[in-house]
Amino acid sequence: MRDEFLPFAPPFYDEREVAAVAEALRSGWITTGPRTRDFESRFAAACAAPAALGCSSCTAGLHLALLGAGVGPGDEVIVPSMTFCATANVVVHVGARPVIVDVCPTTLCIAPAAIDAAMNERTRAVMVVHYAGHPAELDALQAVCRARGVTLIEDAAHAIGARYRGVAIGGAGNPAAFSFYATKNLATGEGGMLTGQPALIERARLLALHGMSNDAWKRYDKAGSWQYDVPQPGFKYNMTDVQAALGLVQLDKLPVMQARRRAVAARYAAGLADCAAVSLPPCAGHVEHAWHLYVIRLRRTALCIDRDRFVEELRRRNIGASVHFIPLHRQSYYRRACGVDAATCPQADAAFH
Ligand SMILES: *Cc1c(COP(=O)(O)O)cnc(C)c1O
Repeated sequence: MRDEFLPFAPPFYDEREVAAVAEALRSGWITTGPRTRDFESRFAAACAAPAALGCSSCTAGLHLALLGAGVGPGDEVIVPSMTFCATANVVVHVGARPVIVDVCPTTLCIAPAAIDAAMNERTRAVMVVHYAGHPAELDALQAVCRARGVTLIEDAAHAIGARYRGVAIGGAGNPAAFSFYATKNLATGEGGMLTGQPALIERARLLALHGMSNDAWKRYDKAGSWQYDVPQPGFKYNMTDVQAALGLVQLDKLPVMQARRRAVAARYAAGLADCAAVSLPPCAGHVEHAWHLYVIRLRRTALCIDRDRFVEELRRRNIGASVHFIPLHRQSYYRRACGVDAATCPQADAAFH
């Protein structure tokens, strides 16, 4: 048994992050500025995305993606049940209606067939979640969305470093939002990145900083002007240069961190191969998995304890674990507002249960 508790997801930091933050603080500019711009362009280059916008969170990025795509009241957005609540919450925030659908039983990503069945003339967007870091079937999803003239938005909170048929997530050009939350693969404490086409990113950039036409870095720069206009009321969703300083170091370390995740996943797979009590996570041959989460599913017939007790027994053995996720159809708001339950999302419910 381990002597020390193994936390669920500690950040992979060393003196380089400490030095980068100290340098940002000493620079005299701590909010959105040159480091954020640098992080945006290097992030876009790393996943071959057309353009990128640093945000205060992935949730902010998803909200901006919906606004940028013109989703609003009267519209419907299709969302998988097996996700974190933020994916659907932002749909409610733009005044649209989330349509919660079931997931594919193996990857637990949104099922292309479920989308087809849920589409109607009010459907404006589909939110796909690359669950645990395993890319969803983007070819099939894109085909369905293109045929119907619907925007595909990628909740890429788990998927930095992942690839679908050789293309990095973010590189397909759809609006994609990444998370740099403390437990995510690339961590800046709080923070996120929205990637997408330049026109969408420029609209999102305006909305991310109060709707002002001229950001503070430009206004307070030597060559800057104090003038600005507010063509549209916006939000306060900008990334700070302190976050970007962390992000730049983490981005440099991403290949090393990804290799380490891959190696740990292989070790789990080898170590658990003969264990009848659990089934192991899928990894399709045509994807690079980001291994944000290593999700095991319990084979209840081979166990004499239930899921909660299993997590408790791990904790007693000093191993941190969690359950990802309590599906949306089990959240009281979405049950009430969207009329979903275990019967409408049987695969997501079976995976949770
Ligand atoms: C973490 C997470 C988010 C939200 O990320 P924040 O950066 O905390 O806003 C959104 N979707 C999924 C699937 C997540 O796991």
